[in-house]
Amino acid sequence: MFPFRTVTVTPRLPGEIRRLRELAYNLYFSWNNCVVDLFKAINQDLWEEVYHNPVHFLLRVNEADLQRAAASEQFLNQYRQAVDSFDIYMQKKTWYDKYIERAGATGHQVSETPDNSGGDRLNIAGGNSLVAYFSAEFGLHESYPTYSGGLGLLAGDHCKAASDLGLPFVGVGLLYKHGYFTQLINREGRQEAHYHYQNFSKLPITLALDSSGRELVVTVELPGRQVQARIWQIKVGRINILFLDADLPVNSHEDRELTGQLYGGDQETRIGQEILLGMGGVKALRALGLAPTVWHINEGHAAFLQVERLREFVEDKGLPVGVALEALRADSLFTTHTPVPAGHDVFSPEMIDRYFSYLYQRLGLTREQFLQLAYDDARGGFNMTLLALNHCGFCNGVSKLHGAVSRSMFHYLYPNIPLEEVPIGHVTNGVHTLTWLAPEMRKLFNKHLGEEWKDCASSVAPDWHRVDDIPDHELWEVHMELKEKMVHFARRHVAQQRVRNHETLERVKEVENYLRPGVLTIGFARRFATYKRAGLLFRDKYRLASLVNNSERPVQFIFAGKAHPADQPGQDLIEFIYDMAAEDRFRGKIVFLENYDINISRYLLQGVDVWLNTPRRPMEASGTSGMKAAVNGVLNCSVLDGWWPEAYNGNNGFAVGEDWDFPDDDARDQHDFYSLYSLLEKVIVPAYYDQTDGMPGKWVSWMKESVKTIAPHFSTRRMVLEYARNYYLQADQRNQIFSADGYQVCSELCQLKYFLREHWNHIRIIGVEASCAESMHPEEKLRVRATVELGPVPRDNVCVEIVYGEVTRRGLQSINTLPLHEEGTAGSAGQVIYSGDVSLPQGTFGYTVRVRPYSPNFAHHFELPLVCWALSL
Ligand SMILES: *Cc1c(COP(=O)(O)O)cnc(C)c1O
Repeated sequence: MFPFRTVTVTPRLPGEIRRLRELAYNLYFSWNNCVVDLFKAINQDLWEEVYHNPVHFLLRVNEADLQRAAASEQFLNQYRQAVDSFDIYMQKKTWYDKYIERAGATGHQVSETPDNSGGDRLNIAGGNSLVAYFSAEFGLHESYPTYSGGLGLLAGDHCKAASDLGLPFVGVGLLYKHGYFTQLINREGRQEAHYHYQNFSKLPITLALDSSGRELVVTVELPGRQVQARIWQIKVGRINILFLDADLPVNSHEDRELTGQLYGGDQETRIGQEILLGMGGVKALRALGLAPTVWHINEGHAAFLQVERLREFVEDKGLPVGVALEALRADSLFTTHTPVPAGHDVFSPEMIDRYFSYLYQRLGLTREQFLQLAYDDARGGFNMTLLALNHCGFCNGVSKLHGAVSRSMFHYLYPNIPLEEVPIGHVTNGVHTLTWLAPEMRKLFNKHLGEEWKDCASSVAPDWHRVDDIPDHELWEVHMELKEKMVHFARRHVAQQRVRNHETLERVKEVENYLRPGVLTIGFARRFATYKRAGLLFRDKYRLASLVNNSERPVQFIFAGKAHPADQPGQDLIEFIYDMAAEDRFRGKIVFLENYDINISRYLLQGVDVWLNTPRRPMEASGTSGMKAAVNGVLNCSVLDGWWPEAYNGNNGFAVGEDWDFPDDDARDQHDFYSLYSLLEKVIVPAYYDQTDGMPGKWVSWMKESVKTIAPHFSTRRMVLEYARNYYLQADQRNQIFSADGYQVCSELCQLKYFLREHWNHIRIIGVEASCAESMHPEEKLRVRATVELGPVPRDNVCVEIVYGEVTRRGLQSINTLPLHEEGTAGSAGQVIYSGDVSLPQGTFGYTVRVRPYSPNFAHHFELPLVCWALSL
């Protein structure tokens, strides 16, 4: 192709509405309808044409339209209100500001951290703190598809809440020239993946420049070459996300494609992308002069950031590699997002050699040592999840259940340590409420919940109980309005698809009669990964047909979802449902919408009656779409997987199946299928159609219960606060302590770990005596004395504790621990006696004594996975 220059010609913005450009360049618009309404007021058709993208809008709009708006008093009022709300948002004192004030006043970390492992002795950095959040996907808005599903949407919502709460925060990702694919369904029901070229000048992003106005560029090493990338920035309220872009003429064609598409290409593309994201991401932060004090790895794709940091510590700071590894751990957090094996990237040792052998020696590591940073014996390669897990001080899953599932997945890394003490916690996902709430619902809440309900800068959740003050019929009317909007949208969407597919006029027209607003409507929209079981409903087509075609109490279904282009079974499932929807008995009553994205998702989860979720437990780590549905008064009907067991209370939705796991998939599928149909036929359909004056009273009470119980807890406000309080603040403190005096603490910790590993096998619990034999009364205390041989291990470096819990088939569970105190030395040298008293509630308990390594600088009890249990009791 011949070379060319580009030039952009944009209409002049009248002075009165000058700040429209600023509003367009901040994703604030994506959760504030007052800004969106401005663009709609200028030219509604154009707003739809540019797919709700304000920057593209300003490139396309006629100057005359802008002048007309600037001359309208009504518009100017609207404009001033929007600008005011934006300014207030940007300047408002946030939770974090107040936190820093309190910390500053006392000179100490204040009690935000529930687990205060030595919190008191530390000064808070405040001004220098910065959380860097790395993610391969960010789902921020429909106008730019940098997401494939839940992971990306969660990252986008995380950033929005970090902005709301005023956290010092920066996101790091990749800017994909084609984003994720657009899904078109052809006449045969096959999915076609189309990649659209994204013209970056139409996106709300700007290039990062150096002080002399030149593009900042970072360079990463790939086999036999260097690849350069420039840095784009996107503003999300108060925070920025940096996006790397390798589409530069200096790079080869293949390298320019590294930021071609999300999750595209082969293993080579994949590792290149991940190196660019992780290592390039660190360099991008440095290029901008940013020095994060907390590093958050959102899913394993970004874990190479730890390799770049290792290189920095070793090469730039001159730390020995063992000390550097401690420095990495100190302030980093890893969030794992899926128990599905395909979600964990593994690269072969040969590949790692090709991409990293240049570094081995520079890091002071042998090939084997480098591979050992993340070696996965079972899969025979370098596992990105293990890279993160092994080298982050903090790790978490994304729901209570997923935390437990992750602990069992990685229990093997912690031999002899009870499953429940595997150091992987959980922070249950949430959603950014204002992004997902329908404007109509928002208006209703404004009216009945008081204005302060949407104050998102505060750590206090609004009083959602005031949902009870909303008159039933008002809530129902808004719901029906949203449902009608959704039905019209769905009809238009299917009609457009048929026109594009050159279907007959009759087939296009027929869509007018599809889906009726009065009919109970069930939505199922998600990625078409097979474990999500989109086909569960179709296991008995006769039963489905009688549900759908019931003359008095019919049901209709809307499906949407993309299957990854490499996922054949997922695509087959789409075709299957598409074929079903074409059968006479289901036509117009089961509808599949192509190209599931944020826009469609909003319409569906604001406008259906029931949101259906049928994953094969426990494969769904959390799920978030149901939370978005719930804030809009849509009832969840879900398998007890992911977030749902935490939310379901018997009156705020419906639970499919049981909360335990089946021995095999077929049994589980069959069981869930029966459960689903029985719920639909016996509970959901009757309740929906039990209407007086066109309103189902019981149903509306469930809707309110659902909003009240789900909106406050399953929000990113609660979620990001939990990340901040449980992890970020601690990691930030640790960053200070560990980096002081030339990384002194890291050296000590490194030596201590080495010493303890060497000498742990000398430790033995010689005897345990207890004050009572088999039974005692609740007011008595159990006195325990243990004689321990420590060998060369100093007393300061161990914790001797009693461990007690419920006696179960699998040993002790629901474990409690209580440290024993040193009582003195025993007869022979090196033996120490420890003792302590435990109060036990009524019941039967098992107890034992153990020794574990201890240092005040450990992030958690099993930072060093060593333990010595009493052998005979
Ligand atoms: C919320 C959302 C998701 C994730 O929801 P799940 O419950 O995990 O399926 C995926 N895609 C879109 C477009 C969403 O809005």
